[in-house]
Amino acid sequence: MPLNEFAFQRCLSADCGATYGADEVLIACKQCGELLDVDYEWDRAQPPSRLQDLEKYWAERHHPLNFSGVWRFRDLLPYVSDDEIVTVGEGQTLLQQANAVASYVGLDPGNLYLQYEGMNPSGSFKDNGMSAAFTHAHTIGAQRAACASTGNTSASLAMYCSVTRAMRGIIFIGSGKISYGKLSQALDYGALTVQIAGDFDDAMVRVREVCKELGIYLVNSVNPFRLEGQKTIMFRVLEALRWEIPDWIVVPGGNLGNSSSFGKAFMELKQLGLIDRVPRLAVINAAGADTLSQLVERRDLRWNDSQTDEEKIAAYYQELDDLHKKADTIASAIEINRPVNLKKCLRALAVCDGVVRQVSDQEILDAKAQVGAGGIGCEPASGASVAGAKLLRQQGVIGASDRVVCILTGHVLKDPTATVAYHSTDQKLFNDVLGSRGVKTASFANRAIAVDNDLGEIIQAIQLYG
Ligand SMILES: *Cc1c(COP(=O)(O)O)cnc(C)c1O
Ligand SMILES: [Zn+2]
Repeated sequence: MPLNEFAFQRCLSADCGATYGADEVLIACKQCGELLDVDYEWDRAQPPSRLQDLEKYWAERHHPLNFSGVWRFRDLLPYVSDDEIVTVGEGQTLLQQANAVASYVGLDPGNLYLQYEGMNPSGSFKDNGMSAAFTHAHTIGAQRAACASTGNTSASLAMYCSVTRAMRGIIFIGSGKISYGKLSQALDYGALTVQIAGDFDDAMVRVREVCKELGIYLVNSVNPFRLEGQKTIMFRVLEALRWEIPDWIVVPGGNLGNSSSFGKAFMELKQLGLIDRVPRLAVINAAGADTLSQLVERRDLRWNDSQTDEEKIAAYYQELDDLHKKADTIASAIEINRPVNLKKCLRALAVCDGVVRQVSDQEILDAKAQVGAGGIGCEPASGASVAGAKLLRQQGVIGASDRVVCILTGHVLKDPTATVAYHSTDQKLFNDVLGSRGVKTASFANRAIAVDNDLGEIIQAIQLYG
């Protein structure tokens, strides 16, 4: 059996509770249309009895499954037998204690950690989930896999297709919305790229229809196997902290797959008795794509033990339609108004006593510049987590002595246009890329100095500024 018998899929709605085999390809419950979870009969799955027990895999790092930062935790996502797993060495990421950024955020030195998921092979955290969904697709014999994407999901899918030659990758993107860093990856890796005259939310609707019609395997985060892989980001954070639980996890929110998977990870670790408390979760929207923040902060939408108030959600989406309101932010990876994992994220907020905030593009870019100046850098969406931590610190929700982990979801090279525009002396470039989004200043810009091609002038400039 390639898929383990003690793994199954379960409807998120407690009222419905329908279950399905792990070998079924589903993106929604057949009874009620709700999202699905991957679940396990844990007493048969033999999970570790202590988190430290997982360290034994480190000793055998020559084994590709142990080298993978996803699959060395396979005892905690045990749906598939080892010989079916597809890995390209994802999840070799870094938890960095970032003191310069800590002082910007307003935390005591030593208390801010940045989890660099941009170090994944395709440059974003998406590889964690793609490895897991791709493995499931491979197991059930899929020939083609598709996704709608703001860029990073498509880069990741295209990479798994090109490395493994196992499947044809088909990606749906909105027009003019994708950064060149991300688009170049999908093109280079050879994915069939379908550009739709619309935005991400439109592309998401279409890809679902097309996958249904043509029997193509869908790897968006409505696929519950994706989220199993993304749980391991939290396992790696805990591992890097020597299995101590931080006070806060701060993550940008787009389609809300990451936040949902983090909640599931902590829910399961608690249920298995592997941790005695859960960290608090902060999910940060961009102000130009703030559905979660609107619904949770302004309209008090709650998980409510899966009895979520569906009418509140429907009414909000109706308002967006009536106002013709489209998502708009420089942080293109979170430029999403209809997050597919909304309900799962509400559960994560309930499990982790979570909060939601929104930050402006100005705050996002300033935070991003601070991350770059103090470390390895990130793309705009990732800056939202640091900007969100700063806001929560100012509001006194996060304390100066709290231990905070911000997730940096994507690599600094993913969106060079935004970075160069921020640092540029070219006012037109700044206005075109950022000014139109309400960004007024670049307080942390590191501007290039222009000099004549003259040795004396060059030396003078360096002596003046260096
Ligand atoms: C996909 C993505 C996000 C949003 O994550 P969700 O799981 O969709 O909320 C944030 N940042 C980057 C860089 C991404 O690629
Ligand atoms: Zn159901």
